[in-house]
Amino acid sequence: MPEIRTDPLTGHRVLISAERANRPMATAASSCDTSDAACPFCEGNEQETPGEVFAIRNPESTIDRPGWKVRVVPNKFPAVSTVHELLALDLTTLCLPGIGAHEVIIETPRHVAGWTELSVAEIDDVLSAYQARLEYWRRESNLKYAIVFKNLGYEAGASQFHAHSQLLGLPIVPEQVAHEHRAAEKFWKQSKRCPYCDQIAQEQAQRDRIVAESDEFVAFCPFASRLACQIRVLPRQHASRFGLLPAQPRRALAGFLQELFIRLERVLVIPAYNFWLQTLPFSSLDANHFHWHIEILPRQSNIAGFEWGTGYTINQIPPEYAAQRLRNI
Ligand SMILES: [Zn+2]
Ligand SMILES: [Zn+2]
Repeated sequence: MPEIRTDPLTGHRVLISAERANRPMATAASSCDTSDAACPFCEGNEQETPGEVFAIRNPESTIDRPGWKVRVVPNKFPAVSTVHELLALDLTTLCLPGIGAHEVIIETPRHVAGWTELSVAEIDDVLSAYQARLEYWRRESNLKYAIVFKNLGYEAGASQFHAHSQLLGLPIVPEQVAHEHRAAEKFWKQSKRCPYCDQIAQEQAQRDRIVAESDEFVAFCPFASRLACQIRVLPRQHASRFGLLPAQPRRALAGFLQELFIRLERVLVIPAYNFWLQTLPFSSLDANHFHWHIEILPRQSNIAGFEWGTGYTINQIPPEYAAQRLRNI
C-alpha cells in the first residue's frame, strides 16, 4: 500500500510508492512512425494496459479494442492505491494511506508525442476526457483533490513517448494548493475581488508579460516565473471549475493551447515541459476567490542542489523577455 508520509520538521509530504519503481521506460523517442509495436498506448495494443474506464470512440467499436480517439485507463504502476470508499483520516498522523486515483489519459491512437502533432479536435477530446474524469472523481469518491498533469520529454520526467496525460486524485488537498487557496480567499475577503481576475486585468494593462490573447483566454509569463518561459493560461471569464467549461470555449481552448505549444517549440532548444491544470478542490462546488488555470513549465535543466535545499528555483530568463520572445514568434 502506498503511503503519504510527512516530515515532522519541514512538513513536506511525500508519496512513498514502491510499485512505481517497476514501470517501464520507453527508450527511443522517434516519431517517424505513427505506431510502435512495443508501445502500450498505441492502437491495437489495448491488451497491454488495464481495462479502460472512459473512452471517446467510434460507436461501432467495442471496449478495449481499436476504434478510439481518447482512452482513459488506470495507471498500471499507480502512485496511489485506488479505492472508492475512503475511511476517515487522522490528519495529525505523519503517515496516511496513499489512497486515491491514478489514471492515464491516452490522447491519441497514433504514436506521436506532443500537442503540436495532434489536431485541435483531438486536443478538444483530451480536454473533454479531463472534464469527465475530474467530475467523475468529484462525484463518486471521498477524495479531496485531483490534479491533471502532462509530462513531455525525458527532461520533464515522461516515461512513455506516446502522447498521454495523467490524473492523480488525493485524499488531502496538497499544502501548495491549500496555501494558494488561503491567500486567494484572504484577498477576496479584503477586496471582494477574485485575485486571478485582478491578475488578468493587471497583465493586460501592463502588457509586457502577455504571450497570447483570444476572446476567451489569456496567456502570460507569471511575474515570478519559476523557470524560463513558464506560461499561465486563464479564462477571461471568472470560473472556478474546469469540469463545467462548456463545449464551445473548450474547443477554443484546444486551439489556444496548441498555438502556445507551437510558440514554445520554436523558442526552446528541447521541447520538454510539465503541464498541469488547477481546478477547484472537491470540497467546494464553486468559489469567488478561485479561478481555474493551466500552468506550462518548460524544462531545460534539472532541479539541482540549490533548488532542493532552499525550495527556490533560479530562472535565468526574466519573464518579460521570455514573453516578448514567445509573443513575437
Ligand atoms: Zn504508441
Ligand atoms: Zn476570477
